[in-house]
Amino acid sequence: MAYINEHFLKLKAGYLFPEIGRRVNEFTQANPDKAPGLIRCGIGDVTEALPEAVIEALHAAVDEMGNRKTFRGYAPELGYEFLREAIAEHDYAARGMDISADEIFVSDGAKCDSANILDILGSQNRIAITDPVYPVYLDTNVMAGHTGPADDAGLFEGIIYLPCTDANDFVPAIPEEKADLIYLCYPNNPTGATATKAQLSAWVDYAKANDSIILYDAAYEAFIQDADVPHSIFEIEGARDCAIEFRSFSKNAGFTGTRCAFTVVPKGLAAKDAEGHDHSLHALWGRRVATKFNGTSYPIQRAAAAVYTEAGQTQVRSLIDHYMGNAKLLREAAANAGLEVFGGTNAPYIWVKTPNGTPSWDIFDKVLNEAAVVITPGAGFGTAGEGYFRISAFNSRANAEEVAQRIGAMAW
Ligand SMILES: *Cc1c(COP(=O)(O)O)cnc(C)c1O
Repeated sequence: MAYINEHFLKLKAGYLFPEIGRRVNEFTQANPDKAPGLIRCGIGDVTEALPEAVIEALHAAVDEMGNRKTFRGYAPELGYEFLREAIAEHDYAARGMDISADEIFVSDGAKCDSANILDILGSQNRIAITDPVYPVYLDTNVMAGHTGPADDAGLFEGIIYLPCTDANDFVPAIPEEKADLIYLCYPNNPTGATATKAQLSAWVDYAKANDSIILYDAAYEAFIQDADVPHSIFEIEGARDCAIEFRSFSKNAGFTGTRCAFTVVPKGLAAKDAEGHDHSLHALWGRRVATKFNGTSYPIQRAAAAVYTEAGQTQVRSLIDHYMGNAKLLREAAANAGLEVFGGTNAPYIWVKTPNGTPSWDIFDKVLNEAAVVITPGAGFGTAGEGYFRISAFNSRANAEEVAQRIGAMAW
């Protein structure tokens, strides 16, 4: 007899994006005339082509692989030094942070890293998760058996939920309870909110006081426009003692289909065994990576390194400008329609309050039926997301303009 991991059965059956897909299919079948004009502002996936510098590096690396003299087999476990050095220099040293190349682990995605990190962390940890949230943090803890079942509202037993609403500017208050692991993501998906240095400092102080670890997802740092918004948890004094950071090339350089990311684990970072002895998380993560992962492909690591060349930096900036230009259009259209709008200034997501407290799935159906636009209902990201919806700025300019117009023409 073979048995399943029954924790999977606790997961909510109607996962957000399949349910959106189902409703969109129903709509296009019922409205074949409107189907060609459907515009998707739902799933957070990039739409624009890879930067030229990235494509050139990819081509060159593929040619190297085709020549016996320059061919490469397995990559080094942490990732190629040329990429880790470029990351350390441009993403950290240039912003005054002390992160060395050997604290950077190159991977094929921030989604898998933020999920796999649980491999090295104990199941007795108390987990704090923001609500609404990028579903990966919660679902992977459910799968690992770190929760009880969900209640009728969809809240899992054993999780410390940190509600993020307009009342706290979508940055959670420090809880009274002690959490051992805290997931934070800024700029935030789905709310588009950012956290200030003071807010992150309060979390770092809390983590240090409680010997907790902050799992910080900075996948959207490249979208930050305001000079005083932190790009990394390591801009905060003391974070090297209490934080792991996840970064990705998916959203800045359009690598969602190319796959490259990295995780930063400071060398001094430690967590305890049951007897209270400290162990290096850097060593454990290194062991985990060496055992379960054989590296991101050489051409892709070359492609990622090209992001840090002068041409790459200019081209990435113009991609970001493109998406943030969309965000501005969508933000203004929603605000002009009388809606209460958040985010969209340092992140590619606009988080909108539903009018008159309408449930977010009802707004989803309304926007789909009246405007043929797919948005994401806030309830899909957690209980505290109810009463909001997300508009993604990942689109062509023409589509963003069209969506802005349709939002303006709707009877809200
Ligand atoms: C898109 C996204 C990522 C990136 O994941 P990859 O696996 O690197 O593509 C990470 N975190 C959040 C919150 C995201 O929205």
